[in-house]
Amino acid sequence: MAPTTGPGRIQLAGRTVQLAWVREHSAQAAPLFARARAEVGHAWCLCRRPALRLVIRCTRAGRYHVAGWPGEGERHDSNCSFHKLGPGFSGRDRYSTQAIRETDDGVFIRLATPLTSTLAQPRTHDPATEETGDEAGSRRSVGLLGLLHWLWEQAQLNVSHPHTGRLTWRTCHARLRQQQRETTINGRDMDEALYVVPPFTPATADTNAAALETFRTRLGRRGDTERRALVLGQIKEVAPTPYGVAYRLAHQRTPLYARAALHARATRSYRHAFGKTAAEHGATRIALFVVERSPKGHLIAVDLAAMLTTGTFIPADSSYEVVMANTLTSCGRAFIKPIRYDGTDAVLPDFVLTDTDPHQYIEVYGIHGRDSYDRRKRTKQQFYQRQGRQLIEWDVTQPMPVLTRRPSH
Ligand SMILES: [Zn+2]
Repeated sequence: MAPTTGPGRIQLAGRTVQLAWVREHSAQAAPLFARARAEVGHAWCLCRRPALRLVIRCTRAGRYHVAGWPGEGERHDSNCSFHKLGPGFSGRDRYSTQAIRETDDGVFIRLATPLTSTLAQPRTHDPATEETGDEAGSRRSVGLLGLLHWLWEQAQLNVSHPHTGRLTWRTCHARLRQQQRETTINGRDMDEALYVVPPFTPATADTNAAALETFRTRLGRRGDTERRALVLGQIKEVAPTPYGVAYRLAHQRTPLYARAALHARATRSYRHAFGKTAAEHGATRIALFVVERSPKGHLIAVDLAAMLTTGTFIPADSSYEVVMANTLTSCGRAFIKPIRYDGTDAVLPDFVLTDTDPHQYIEVYGIHGRDSYDRRKRTKQQFYQRQGRQLIEWDVTQPMPVLTRRPSH
């Protein structure tokens, strides 16, 4: 089987195996994992020489996983599953270990939105997880958009590499599921708390329907408690209903219903994802919903976060960024889209080209005559100048700069 990304080989207790095989057959690989953990203490990634260490995790359910060694993401090959940009290139940096805690047992996330509500109490955000920064200014819980971005970044869905080929929903689903299995959210296994819409094929239609039904039966009232959960999918269409809207998702017949007020708020908060230009240039929108089950058994979205992506699921902050990402892909460039998480004001480049050494940054300037935007643009330019980084700029009123890679010699 072809590795999902990159060189894709790792070493476990002296044996060289394909990462894709290990991920697909973690039960079969368990004895090898156990030996590697006991005898070596870690695994090795073989994308580069010398090999790089990998963390071996074992969840409470006894499932083994490999993860990148903290702080070493930058050292992996840009086409390796464990490659990450250094600090300062992700909204992830802004969260405390209370919000996202990575341990040998897996990842523990504290979501600001409660996944259960007690009927005796009003439905508000849990004060214990209410978003307030601690002394260091870091966040103590993760919002919905933050969680969506975290999943995307962990699954490397913000990475484009010519060797990986065109990403499909099937790949997204497989990678997200992988991440889900080693994550606990608000004390619940994420595997159970999050339903990632599976890719539809006539052959899997019945299995998919059964999986959705299992998910649905876990929701609803148990005594005084209302259980909610999360659904992640691609919004295909927003159709009006007498009470609000129905979100029709790609690969799934069952829609999610929402009140008009929620949809109105979502279109304001996630302007680009719901904007008319989303459908142009093959763009799509991905949403993470908090759902409840209505007395009649319908799935009701009570909150959501959405993001605009290219047709190959690379996140974009505007339709101009979609055009830029599509152009980079067609030029065969390797790049990463840094993602911001919950409304951080971090200075992040719009794109980072990873096939040049040192990496180059790309900025897309789409808005003119807005003071705050112009100030921000200057701040960014000064920031890159100080770092001595080469910046490729595209002012959308001008032709796009040449983006094909120059031969190095
Ligand atoms: Zn590697």
